[in-house]
Amino acid sequence: MSIFDKLVVWTIPFVPKPVVSRISSRYIAGETLDAAVRVVKDLNRQGCCATLDVLGEFITSMEEAEVAVNSYLQALDRIVAEKLDANISVKLTMFGLLLDKELCYRNVRQLLLKAKELNLFVRIDMEDSPCTSDTLAVYSKLRAEFDNVGFAIQAYMRRSLKDIDEMVAKHKMVNVRVCKGIYVEPREIAYKDMAIINSNFNLLVRELLKNDNYVGVATHDEKLVWSTCKLIHESNIDKSKFEFQMLLGVDEELRKIIIKEGYKLRVYVPFGRKWYEYATRRLQENPTIAKYVLKGMLGM
Ligand SMILES: Cc1cc2nc3c(=O)[nH]c(=O)nc-3n(C[C@H](O)[C@H](O)[C@H](O)COP(=O)(O)OP(=O)(O)OC[C@H]3O[C@@H](n4cnc5c(N)ncnc54)[C@H](O)[C@@H]3O)c2cc1C
Repeated sequence: MSIFDKLVVWTIPFVPKPVVSRISSRYIAGETLDAAVRVVKDLNRQGCCATLDVLGEFITSMEEAEVAVNSYLQALDRIVAEKLDANISVKLTMFGLLLDKELCYRNVRQLLLKAKELNLFVRIDMEDSPCTSDTLAVYSKLRAEFDNVGFAIQAYMRRSLKDIDEMVAKHKMVNVRVCKGIYVEPREIAYKDMAIINSNFNLLVRELLKNDNYVGVATHDEKLVWSTCKLIHESNIDKSKFEFQMLLGVDEELRKIIIKEGYKLRVYVPFGRKWYEYATRRLQENPTIAKYVLKGMLGM
């Protein structure tokens, strides 16, 4: 970690809440489901679809998991009631992955039952490395019963290619979001070189598309958007087999370019009362984000 990064991590707890709120407001839809619905309606008008993320992760009691289930059940109902073009993204630690795996599975199963009834899709986000194997295990168990569920894979993890091969062998067709990965991981298990991470990102996308899976290409890196377009062109891949995905508030210009090119684009829309914890933890975990935010604020 550079001296600047250490400084960022050290100063975050002293940044006044209103300042954190102002910085993060571009990246978070608001505290309530109503606010998130307004943002998704606007995104739909702009030609993108969305995925709703209720903020909160790494809970400490199973009561909190119950609150999470209810929040997501409400979100699923509103997606249908408001005719939104959206699905949901969930983090398993919010449903108790680190407390009780079986209960976590049952909590997410509840969501999947409801989502299936409403014809909606549920994406399981990938969290830090202690969660990887358990997340894939819960996904596999759910996938045995449901087809409206997918997972995310991180290009910085050395194990990711093997993981997708195993998931494809097990489930035939999988729906996977490919991203670079947001957590700080040790070098033994994660690539550190950005050129390798980018090549691995392309490799994962190629492997998945080759085997007729559905891919969410989650990036704001125009090089990776371009390499995906190149692959699609060269391999004559149908537009119905993939979508691009971006975070709310990040590089809206690239978002518009992708939509104009006629590709499907989904925006990740986080919302909820736990925005402060989310924003500060993310900044502390990975000061690179703070640099992006700073760049964005200064219009660089
Ligand atoms: C839809 C979506 C879902 C994701 N799900 C997961 C997940 O399940 N697990 C996981 O570990 N990670 C997830 N991520 C985060 C991802 O792994 C990356 O950390 C993040 O997207 C940055 O990587 P990048 O591909 O945009 O490339 P980078 O090279 O890191 O960024 C390219 C450019 O995008 C801009 N940028 C990128 N991120 C931000 C940001 N947060 N704020 C402001 N500007 C930014 C910067 O200008 C940067 O120069 C997700 C990302 C997206 C878009």
